[in-house]
Amino acid sequence: MQNEFDKFLRQIEGTRKFLEVPENIYRQLLSVKRFLEVSIPVMMDSGEVKVFTGYRSQYNDARGPFKGGIRFHQNVNIGEVKALSAWMAFKCAVVDIPLGGGKGGIIVNPKELSSGELERLSRGYVRSVSDIIGDRVDIPAPDVNTDGRIMSWMLDEYETIRRHHEAGVITGKPLSLGGSKARSYSTAQGGFYVIDSAAKKMGIEKGATVAIQGFGNAGRNIAFIMQKAGYKIISVSDSKGVIENKEGLDIADVAKYKDEKGTLLGYPKAKDIASAEQLAEEVDIFIPAALENSVTEKDAQTLKTKLVAELANGPVTPEADAVFEKNNVTVLPDILTNAGGVVVSYFEQVQNAYGYYWEEKEALQKLETIMRTAFEEVWKIRTEKKTTARNAAYIIALSRISEAMMARGRG
Ligand code: GLU
Repeated sequence: MQNEFDKFLRQIEGTRKFLEVPENIYRQLLSVKRFLEVSIPVMMDSGEVKVFTGYRSQYNDARGPFKGGIRFHQNVNIGEVKALSAWMAFKCAVVDIPLGGGKGGIIVNPKELSSGELERLSRGYVRSVSDIIGDRVDIPAPDVNTDGRIMSWMLDEYETIRRHHEAGVITGKPLSLGGSKARSYSTAQGGFYVIDSAAKKMGIEKGATVAIQGFGNAGRNIAFIMQKAGYKIISVSDSKGVIENKEGLDIADVAKYKDEKGTLLGYPKAKDIASAEQLAEEVDIFIPAALENSVTEKDAQTLKTKLVAELANGPVTPEADAVFEKNNVTVLPDILTNAGGVVVSYFEQVQNAYGYYWEEKEALQKLETIMRTAFEEVWKIRTEKKTTARNAAYIIALSRISEAMMARGRG
């Protein structure tokens, strides 16, 4: 398996030729600042104790506290968690919010655990990392297979250890514990503002066709939002398979089917297709919203599209990226496209600090301004430097991070 952190290193190396980064600063960006590996013993329902491995990676905090989600997945590994923590720092910098980059993960397939086992695992993780997190130190959040329920257990465990309230230590909480309105769908909503801005620049009209890979929090919500805005969703997939209807899918109906059956396959108003077929579709916009490396070089060669929007973290491999560049396919990079999640996490923290909560409309307006502004900045650099949107986003982020490091006298 490709080491994801190496992929990140290649990306910043590629960016460096576009801007002056002092050598002393650059050298510090080649490794994470702190990395913690923990063993988490969990009493299973059977009475047996199982030991799970968890990680927390803290990449850079020059612009603010480390920030980033916690992933529960059987394929979690050190290189991936490190890369995800670095991407968080770059993501927060592109959208210019005052946070750094961190990430956590546990090697587990949460679908195999009972609710009680999942709660004990979540609380055990927090006990293991409690010394290095805090609302002004490092702030976890949801990621793949983690949600508001898990954030609630983690918050409760942390506050019990610390013996005080500290709602801002974790984001993505339910509203009853200080969550922000719009947070639950903010990754997709932010992605929509970016995709819609790009579509306008590229002359892609409403009614354009869209294919989506992944039907988790990001994939499902972007499908809803794009359909509501007048785009035609012709295929969606989950880990079990892909469904397609060239006339357009009714996403509310598809979601209802998936919730009932636990799979998209067999949905009566579409046909089941192979994932290779989805990757060979002719479609105006392709949205990978699942896991890393889900779009390979071969896929990039077969996919007939104008715009690829990375709603997942790291879905397009560097080799696929090169093919897209050659074929003039615009790739909206993850650190811009999926930043809406962390932007509303930042809003959540601001509200927690105030103890004063906003209406949904206010959160959405602020999110739209931040996402569309960041898009315009990326597009401008892309045009000026005649490069890819990914390089443009990295140029902006790298210059902001290095400026903060210089200001701290770390150069
Ligand atoms: N897990 C999300 C991401 O990858 C959100 C992180 C956060 O809100 O801190 O961007």
